[in-house]
Amino acid sequence: MLTIKNLNKTYPNDTRALNDVTLTLEKGMFGLLGPNGAGKSTLMRTIATLQLADSGTIEFDGIDVFKQPEELRKVLGYLPQDFGVYPKVSAEMMLNHIAKVKGITNSNERKSYVADLLNKVNLYKFRNRNLGDYSGGMLQRFGIAQALLGNPKLIIVDEPTAGLDPLERNRFHNLLSELGEDAVVILSTHIVDDVTNLCQNMAVFNDGKILVQGNPQGLSDTLNGKVFRKHIDKSELGTFENEFTVLSNYLRGGEFYVNIYSDNIPGEGFEPVNNDLENFYFYCINKKEAGEVAI
Ligand code: ADP
Repeated sequence: MLTIKNLNKTYPNDTRALNDVTLTLEKGMFGLLGPNGAGKSTLMRTIATLQLADSGTIEFDGIDVFKQPEELRKVLGYLPQDFGVYPKVSAEMMLNHIAKVKGITNSNERKSYVADLLNKVNLYKFRNRNLGDYSGGMLQRFGIAQALLGNPKLIIVDEPTAGLDPLERNRFHNLLSELGEDAVVILSTHIVDDVTNLCQNMAVFNDGKILVQGNPQGLSDTLNGKVFRKHIDKSELGTFENEFTVLSNYLRGGEFYVNIYSDNIPGEGFEPVNNDLENFYFYCINKKEAGEVAI
């Protein structure tokens, strides 16, 4: 179990990236959903022992992350947002090297371990290809392989699907979904669908604050019957924003629509919308302050 209590971080330029963050995560996949700049990477890097907070504590299965960073690193798998690779090194050589660093000293054992990992992420066929010649999707899967080295109990994946095509993204998701079976997996993302598809639990994070935490389906159900859409002219958007709680605006079949939040049918021409996590997410971001999220 991962327990984060009252975590605060302000950067020297006065940006408050973490504002009293308190979270408890159990085994399984947890989605940390928030817009760019919310503070997700700061939180991920802090849990991964790469930077310190100003105050607060993080504990994982009895390990005090700030006092025993070496202990945490032994059970941690981390896939950062941007990870550099040596372009002239093959995937197999690189994993072999990392495995050595992680303490698998017997070379036969290491070889079979690396082969297993490469199979798991579907890269065995390409094991001798230089990493510089891998596609974006292959690199992400390689990133997962390196994060899985040493059977980590805590796995952190930061904004993983940016730049992947739909097929690669799908493969990557299938791989991620297997990880949660025996570990705490944190998936940090701004893509709502990734959380809907993969996570048993989640939190919405904005301006360094946890706005709400729960099960994705349960959270989106809280807005049942309270989201309505209307086909409008784009030029009317400003008026609607003044009058209603507009959650989102979008094009469907070339037509312009707004989704609005309202306790009752807001007026003529509105129709109820089947709820999904995206509406809930926009609702949370719209309300901004934790106290205003009515669940
Ligand atoms: P996210 O991962 O959700 O996009 P970040 O944790 O990267 O959010 O950033 C949170 C806020 O902190 C942003 O306003 C960002 O500009 C700022 N920030 C991040 N890293 C630094 C840093 N090293 N120095 C100063 N400000 C930073």
